[in-house]
Amino acid sequence: VLDGLDELGLLDDLSTEGVRAADGLNLRVFATGEQIRWGFDVLRDLTEHPYNVHLGQDRFARIVLQHLHKHENVDVRWGTEVSGGTQDGDSVTLELSSSNGNSTISSAYVVGADGASSAVRSMFWGRDFDGMTWPDRFVATNVRYDFGSHGFGNANMQIDPVYGAVIARIDDNDLWRVTYCEDAGLPEESIIDRMPAFFDAVLPGDKEYELVHHSPYRMHQRAAGSFRKDRVVLAGDAAHVTNPTGGLGLTCGLLDAYVLHDALAAIIRGDVPADVLDAYSTERRTVFLDKASPSATNFKQLVYHSSDPAMLEQALAGMRHVAGDPDLVRAAQLDLSGLRTPSVVGRGAA
Ligand SMILES: Cc1cc2nc3c(=O)[nH]c(=O)nc-3n(C[C@H](O)[C@H](O)[C@H](O)COP(=O)(O)OP(=O)(O)OC[C@H]3O[C@@H](n4cnc5c(N)ncnc54)[C@H](O)[C@@H]3O)c2cc1C
Repeated sequence: VLDGLDELGLLDDLSTEGVRAADGLNLRVFATGEQIRWGFDVLRDLTEHPYNVHLGQDRFARIVLQHLHKHENVDVRWGTEVSGGTQDGDSVTLELSSSNGNSTISSAYVVGADGASSAVRSMFWGRDFDGMTWPDRFVATNVRYDFGSHGFGNANMQIDPVYGAVIARIDDNDLWRVTYCEDAGLPEESIIDRMPAFFDAVLPGDKEYELVHHSPYRMHQRAAGSFRKDRVVLAGDAAHVTNPTGGLGLTCGLLDAYVLHDALAAIIRGDVPADVLDAYSTERRTVFLDKASPSATNFKQLVYHSSDPAMLEQALAGMRHVAGDPDLVRAAQLDLSGLRTPSVVGRGAA
């Protein structure tokens, strides 16, 4: 992902704004205090970016927007909703509604990148978004607390069937994203009443924390049956959604975009036939179903649902074994690079 952001000229600004986290993944067993670390140093000879960049998605989006505005052919229409759409052999027409009234816009292709409840997907795919919804709820909080002085790494998966959490530093002023899990049957309006008990239990030192933001959300593992319907393609959460344990949601969406922008540009230039969009659809969907979704499900299971001691011990034994061998750490870190798919341009001339 960072290689792609670098190619797009975004990485310097994102790294400056965010936290450059080079220490890798820290697995923490809440009950025993054990920590198992898989560092990124084993990737140094393979990539110029052996680190993660952590920052809130609002700040990420603001930087992307600043860069977009440098292009004369970009037109951002705020407060404008896509409310209908049709396509024929030559173009796609979308109906737009805003406080200024209704209008239409036509183009050769449309990318539906309008999130998990995608209107574009509903219009052109109907209810086709197969998969499942988890019975639990995540609560994503941003809190100010000095986790760092208590031995936390920049990115931590805290393993526990009750106090499981993902805890990641998101700025240099001790702002951390802490995401925990609760039964979705509990009333949403009283999350804030239950929250102090969670933090009382998990904060490693004093219990003085500042809650800056919190939001509950339901999680799904779902994907559209295909990511292309003729001149309309889906990308990001519109195409596939996953629970965010392991951070594979936006990651997969960005990896979709890297393949798609290249393909659409080549089609519009006349360099390749539009059929390359079928390769985009098949390859990105396969990667999501075979790799991203199972990985996120495994991460979720490990972090939040490790209630069987024997199974947990077996999983931990495997992770300790990996941590003790740099070659295995490298292989484990590289495993997720399989979320990338190669460019589909160059698979056939127009
Ligand atoms: C609490 C939380 C934590 C997460 N943490 C991570 C993480 O650590 N790492 C990670 O990789 N992923 C994470 N994710 C997932 C990540 O946020 C999503 O995968 C990502 O936002 C998807 O991006 P997107 O652009 O596809 O869709 P979205 O971010 O949902 O953007 C869709 C856009 O389309 C617009 N839109 C919707 N409908 C219409 C319409 N009809 N007309 C016009 N515009 C419309 C919306 O206003 C929005 O701007 C997290 C998600 C949540 C909820």
